[in-house]
Amino acid sequence: MAGVGNLDQAGRGGSRLLTATGERQRGYQARPGECVGVAAACELGAAPLDPPFGLADGDVGTANEAFGAVPDVVASIADRSKNRVVEYSCLIPGAVPILKRLFKQGSRIAEMSRLGERAIVLGASMGGLLAARVLADFFRTVTVIERDELPDDPVNRRGVPQGRHVHALLARGAQILDEFFPGLLDELVAAGAPVWDDGELSKLYASYSGHVILRSGTIAGDPERMAMYMPSRPLLECHLRRRLQAIENVTIHSGQDVAELTSTADHSRVTGVRVVNHAGGAEQELTADLVVDAMGRGAHTPAFLESLGYGRPVEDHIVMHTTYASQPLRIPPGTLKEMLVLISPAPGRPTGMFLVGYEHDTWIFTVYGMVGHEPPRDLAGMLSFAEEYAPAHLLAAVRTGEPIGPVVQHRMPSSQWRRYDKMRRLPDGLLACGDAICSFNPIYGQGMSVAGLDAVALRDCLRRGVTDLPRRYFRAAAKAISVAWQTGATSDLAFPEVEGRRTPSMRVTNRLVNSVLTASESDAVVGTQFFKVTGLIDPPTRLLHPWFLYRVATVNLGRRQRHSPPQQAAVVGPVDGDSVLPEMLSE
Ligand SMILES: Cc1cc2nc3c(=O)[nH]c(=O)nc-3n(C[C@H](O)[C@H](O)[C@H](O)COP(=O)(O)OP(=O)(O)OC[C@H]3O[C@@H](n4cnc5c(N)ncnc54)[C@H](O)[C@@H]3O)c2cc1C
Repeated sequence: MAGVGNLDQAGRGGSRLLTATGERQRGYQARPGECVGVAAACELGAAPLDPPFGLADGDVGTANEAFGAVPDVVASIADRSKNRVVEYSCLIPGAVPILKRLFKQGSRIAEMSRLGERAIVLGASMGGLLAARVLADFFRTVTVIERDELPDDPVNRRGVPQGRHVHALLARGAQILDEFFPGLLDELVAAGAPVWDDGELSKLYASYSGHVILRSGTIAGDPERMAMYMPSRPLLECHLRRRLQAIENVTIHSGQDVAELTSTADHSRVTGVRVVNHAGGAEQELTADLVVDAMGRGAHTPAFLESLGYGRPVEDHIVMHTTYASQPLRIPPGTLKEMLVLISPAPGRPTGMFLVGYEHDTWIFTVYGMVGHEPPRDLAGMLSFAEEYAPAHLLAAVRTGEPIGPVVQHRMPSSQWRRYDKMRRLPDGLLACGDAICSFNPIYGQGMSVAGLDAVALRDCLRRGVTDLPRRYFRAAAKAISVAWQTGATSDLAFPEVEGRRTPSMRVTNRLVNSVLTASESDAVVGTQFFKVTGLIDPPTRLLHPWFLYRVATVNLGRRQRHSPPQQAAVVGPVDGDSVLPEMLSE
């Protein structure tokens, strides 16, 4: 047994020595940040375990797992670039000074109190898994209820039909996943998921509004910070589920249908949920201090609130009628230099496509149309549909592919935002997350990342206790949602056929974005900043920074002077005041 003695010694020696200790443990390759966690766990009185702290042969251990031995400390590697544990939450009285001493540099340490006995999450897809991960730090037990029988392997399932279509994980979404489940991204890569983390622009083909972003050289800045991971949706969900299931106080009940929520007699508090077993129809009532609805777009909460007398939340809609057709393929390795192809709609053309490489040489070819432009449901038809706007070499690569499943179709009538944040009254004990609050036009690839941002909002609100939680949480979540919503809405509403509320600032925004995209065709700095904004890493206000506007203007002027007039170029000067500040650019 690798005993506590080893770890104590290592703790005094700091992270370097700890790494050595980790390596001695039957080949476990520890990283510096992780090992610091082992030391602290030990100082806080973790019992010697065999293997220590649950690290078995070949496991990718993390600070979180190390702290699993001290159940009341939660650590997360928040600073992935430096591979350093910088954030801890602690339920043990008196432990904070120990943590502070061990993690002086830049660590944030918060003392928390346990907030309740049981939390229940309804739905075990992206939103539910992330919410459950957060709740596990604050409640003694977390129970996740899911209608589907959950597979052990990465396969599609009925409750997530969209999983058969292209699913891109934005850079911010990846960062959040790694924060909540340290090492998850490495696990995905080990399972075969491609990652774009070297910043090489030739590996992307990204065309927005008819502007193809620069295709040579590398991005400006740290490519790791903007890394894009490309697991298929089933692979991503499968790994997330496995990691959640490994958390001791979390249980997932699959094959259980949520029938209804229960409440106190005066309807002021939600008290739990009634579930029905899919197989036998047996009914069961589960009580909880907090229920989180993560049942997606068809979530029960609006109907439930109405039945309790609170009324339904107002819904914002952008009616764009997006239809996807997707063909999974196996494409021979080396056929394409590109790892990710995205061609978004352009003025006068509300259609587009994706071609994304997943694990084990599998690819997904998706074409889509909006406002009545429906793509065909067969591969040959999809290829001709895309011929109008896709480069020939990309379509040729698709033609070399071997279909590994049928073409599937998905229709989404509108982007939908349930405005719980605007409700005058809400019962205690009930929250919602992910698509249950807001589902977006999928062409912007935002849904999973925004589910992650909801989870961050939940964690931050729970750190301040449960008083007035629904109001605080829905407002915090709305802030994050609104950035993604405005970005998509502004682009969608540029098409006259799309129904939704248009604001004067949207026209200004579209002109600015067009200018940015023109400059992105030839300038890596501008293109990188645009990627950061669309990847939800930077706020859209970065596009208004004077230095950035100056750069855009200079690049576009240079192009004009070289007698190659940019498409619809319009250099927008500094925006002078709130009246014209585009909505998507206001934080
Ligand atoms: C075609 C398409 C493509 C997309 N592409 C992307 C993309 O590229 N990038 C991206 O980030 N996002 C994308 N999205 C959005 C993304 O799929 C969603 O935002 C995400 O799945 C939301 O997760 P969720 O957990 O909130 O809801 P869902 O994924 O809808 O999950 C709801 C869960 O609740 C369960 N459930 C439902 N009812 C019950 C019940 N009564 N009892 C028990 N369980 C129940 C379901 O079985 C399911 O597991 C896309 C969406 C679509 C439609």
